[in-house]
Amino acid sequence: MTDRPKSYGRKSISATLKPRDLMTPTPRLAGIWTAQIITLFPATFPGVLGASLTGRALEQGKWQLETIDLRDFGLTKHKNVDDTPAGGGAGMVLRADVVGPAIEQAISKAPPQTPRIYLSPRGKPFTQETARAWAQSPGVILLCGRFEGVDQRVLDHYDIQEVSLGDFVLTGGEIAAQAMIDATIRLRPGILGNATSTVDESHSNGLLEHPQYTRPSIWKGHPIPDVIMSGHHENIQKWRSEQSRALTKQRRPDLWTKFTKK
Ligand code: SAH
Repeated sequence: MTDRPKSYGRKSISATLKPRDLMTPTPRLAGIWTAQIITLFPATFPGVLGASLTGRALEQGKWQLETIDLRDFGLTKHKNVDDTPAGGGAGMVLRADVVGPAIEQAISKAPPQTPRIYLSPRGKPFTQETARAWAQSPGVILLCGRFEGVDQRVLDHYDIQEVSLGDFVLTGGEIAAQAMIDATIRLRPGILGNATSTVDESHSNGLLEHPQYTRPSIWKGHPIPDVIMSGHHENIQKWRSEQSRALTKQRRPDLWTKFTKK
C-alpha cells in the first residue's frame, strides 16, 4: 500500500508542476495549440511527450494536452464502455452512445476547424505532411480506440478521419497519438530552438537525411569521412546531398521515384 491519494484534485498552473499536472490547466488557455485525447487510459499521458523538448514546451504553456476519460462516459454503475460486435465475431467494440458524448465534449471545446481523428490501422498513413497540416491547425482531437475499435456510426456522424501510424496493429491508439503529437509539436514555432532545423531533415524535402558524425574523430579505428573534417563547406554540402540521394534511392525507392518526378 502507498499513501498515494485515490483521486487527484484540480491543480492550477505553477512553475513547479510536472507536465502531467499541466495537462488540464484551469482555466484553459485560449489560442494555444491544444491536443484533446479521448482515451480509456488517461494516465498514459503525457507519457513520452512530458520529456525533453516537448515536455519543456508543455510546461511553458506553448501547447496544451487534455485527456478525456472515456470511462467517465460509461453506462450503468459498472461504467461499461464496450459491447460485443453486432453480427458476431471476436472481441469487443466501443459503443456509439459512450464514444459519442465524449467526442461531443471535445468538439464543444475546440475551434471548429480542429481536425477530428480516430487513430486506426485502417486509416490514411500519417506522414510529415500530416504533421505539417496539424501544426498549422488550432490543435487536434484524437480518439484512441481499444479492443476491436469503435462503432462505425460515431466516425460517420461526427465526420472523424481515420489516421494510421503504420501498417501494423497496436493494442490501443495511445502510442500512435503520442507519436503523432510529437511529430506535430516539434514543427510549431519556438519548440526546437534555433539549433535544430526542420528544413533539411529526413522527409522534409522528400529525401532521407545524410549520415551524421560527432567527436571523437576516430572511434574504434573508424575515422569520420575526410570531407566532413575538411572544413570545406561547399564540399561538405555536396557530399551530404549525394549521400542523401544515394540513401533514399537504396532504402526507399518509393520516395526516390516521387522525388525525381517533382
Ligand atoms: N480491429 C481493428 C484493430 C483494433 S486495434 C482492425 O483490424 O482494424 C485497437 C486500437 O488500437 C484501434 O482501435 C486503434 O485506435 C489502435 N491502433 C491499432 N493499430 C493502430 C495503428 N497502426 N495506427 C493507429 N492506431 C492504431
